[in-house]
Amino acid sequence: MKPAPFAYHRPASMTEAFDLMERYGPGGRLLAGGQSLVPALNMRLATPAAVIDINRLPGLDGIRVTPEGLVIGALCRHAAVERSPLVARHAPLVAQAMPHIGHLAIRARGTVGGSIALADPAAELPACLVALDATVRAARRGGTRDIAAAAFFLGIYTTALGPGEIVTEVVIPRPREGWRSHFGELARRAGDYALVGLAINSRVEGDVLLEPRLVFTGVGPTPARAAGAEGALAGRRPDPPAIAGAGRALDADLDPPADVHASAALRRQLARVLLARGLRGLMES
Ligand SMILES: Cc1cc2nc3c(=O)[nH]c(=O)nc-3n(C[C@H](O)[C@H](O)[C@H](O)COP(=O)(O)OP(=O)(O)OC[C@H]3O[C@@H](n4cnc5c(N)ncnc54)[C@H](O)[C@@H]3O)c2cc1C
Repeated sequence: MKPAPFAYHRPASMTEAFDLMERYGPGGRLLAGGQSLVPALNMRLATPAAVIDINRLPGLDGIRVTPEGLVIGALCRHAAVERSPLVARHAPLVAQAMPHIGHLAIRARGTVGGSIALADPAAELPACLVALDATVRAARRGGTRDIAAAAFFLGIYTTALGPGEIVTEVVIPRPREGWRSHFGELARRAGDYALVGLAINSRVEGDVLLEPRLVFTGVGPTPARAAGAEGALAGRRPDPPAIAGAGRALDADLDPPADVHASAALRRQLARVLLARGLRGLMES
């Protein structure tokens, strides 16, 4: 299908971008990698008055390590993040998750900022950012603000971004001594969105888990922390009884949707499988 007509703008500065966002209000849509927006335009699920292409905006690219931690620019393509030695060293959870995002062609264009702003509950990056206690940085005319990832994802395709705000980067705190992470997911086919995914980040002392953070994808409207399972594992070795107890706790933690891809019961079972596999992977890492 072909999109409905729209004006196309390619601002070269943040000021110009803010001007355009003000001019069009809710009728203006930002374009980053276009991997979600362009299909939505083509299917006329989105019919904006204007598309504001942010690819020429300066300063939104690049991956660097600063005293704050690992900083990944919003316009970084997934493929660049996947290949980055800095990401592999400072955020191995993200490096592990990236190859699960769609296919290589999608990762070559899709951006970190787009994935976060889209807030698909099945997406990998949002769950990783919550597990890692990361911060989303957004710019608006006259300033920037930092939003904890845990407070950023409000619902299906809904974020804490206000009108006129652009995600500029994400900040992932430096890895702390003794912390380990693991990402896993189950999808019907390689390249599909996962039915369920799991990002684990935990302090490990000897073979005991301390402060485990378990964040699931695909089981609710936002990345879902499994507080009951975390409590069942904290201070314990992830041996079969502990894993079984945490698996039972998931029943209360998660309220997965049923859809054409999987029933709620199947998603719960997949979450338990992923938890067991993820904990094994974490301890072997
Ligand atoms: C076949 C297919 C399979 C996919 N599989 C997966 C998958 O398994 N996992 C996954 O996570 N993703 C998947 N994706 C999505 C893809 O990875 C992109 O991350 C996602 O489409 C959004 O990134 P984008 O840069 O393409 O954003 P766009 O499509 O350009 O924009 C998406 C939305 O974000 C807004 N936006 C973009 N950048 C910013 C910004 N900096 N600040 C504020 N708002 C912004 C846009 O206005 C728009 O509303 C898949 C896509 C396709 C087509």
